[in-house]
Amino acid sequence: MLARADLHIHSYVSDGEASPKDIVKYARKLKLNVISITDHNSFLGSVIASRYAEEHDIVVLLGNEVRTVWGDVLIFCEEPITVSENPYLLRDIAKENSCVIIPAHPFDLKRLGVGGKSRIYDLWDGFEVFNARSDPITNLLSYLMLRNKSKTLLSNSDAHTLSEIGCSYNLIYVNDLKKEEVLDALKKGRTLMRPAYKFNALHKMFSWSFKARLYGISEKQLAFKTNLLPVLRGGDSSSGSSSA
Ligand SMILES: [Zn+2]
Repeated sequence: MLARADLHIHSYVSDGEASPKDIVKYARKLKLNVISITDHNSFLGSVIASRYAEEHDIVVLLGNEVRTVWGDVLIFCEEPITVSENPYLLRDIAKENSCVIIPAHPFDLKRLGVGGKSRIYDLWDGFEVFNARSDPITNLLSYLMLRNKSKTLLSNSDAHTLSEIGCSYNLIYVNDLKKEEVLDALKKGRTLMRPAYKFNALHKMFSWSFKARLYGISEKQLAFKTNLLPVLRGGDSSSGSSSA
C-alpha cells in the first residue's frame, strides 16, 4: 500500500500548539496513515501519541528533532532512545537501534539546518528537502543540492498548529502498516514527496509563532509540563491541563 505520512509535527511537549492526542485525531481526519511527532529534543509527544494511536488505524513513528552541534536532525525509531548532540554518535546510536536520521530543513540556516554538513552522505539516511515552514528558495536549494544521492527525500509540514498538519506529506510504499515497515521503507528510499504550502494556514502559523515568541510557552504547555509525571506514569494524557 501507499501510506500517506507527515513526519515532522510539533506538539505542546515542545513549541507546538496542540496535544499529541489532538494531533492523532486530526491526522486521522486528514486520512494520514503515518505521522511522527518530532518535538525538540524529546520523544515524549510521540510516545503519548503512539499510546493513543494504538486504538486506531494510524502509525506513530517515535520521533525527535534533535538539536545537534551542527543543527536540527530528525530521528525516527520504534522505541524512544537516548540521543546525542554529536552527529557521529547520533549516527551510531541510530544504527544500533534501527532508527532513521534525516537532517531537517538542511539549507534553512535561519532555522538551524545542518547546511553543508548534510553532504557528509554516509551519516544520513535521507534529507528533508521540502519543509512547509521554509521559504521556497531555501527548499529549492535543499532539493538541488541533495537530489540524486540515492537517499530518501522527504517533504513535511513541520506543523506547529493543527491546521498546518498534512499540507506537505509523503507517500511511503509498505506491505503492512507497521512501524518497522515504515522505517525500512525510509532506509531504502521507497518514498515519494508531496510538497505543498498551505496558504490558508499561514495566518494561524504566523500568529502562533508570534505568540510563542512574545509570551514564551503557552498556558497549555505549562500545565502539561507541570503534569508531566502523571502522564509519564500512564495517567490521562488526553489533555495537557488535566492531572491524572
Ligand atoms: Zn521542527
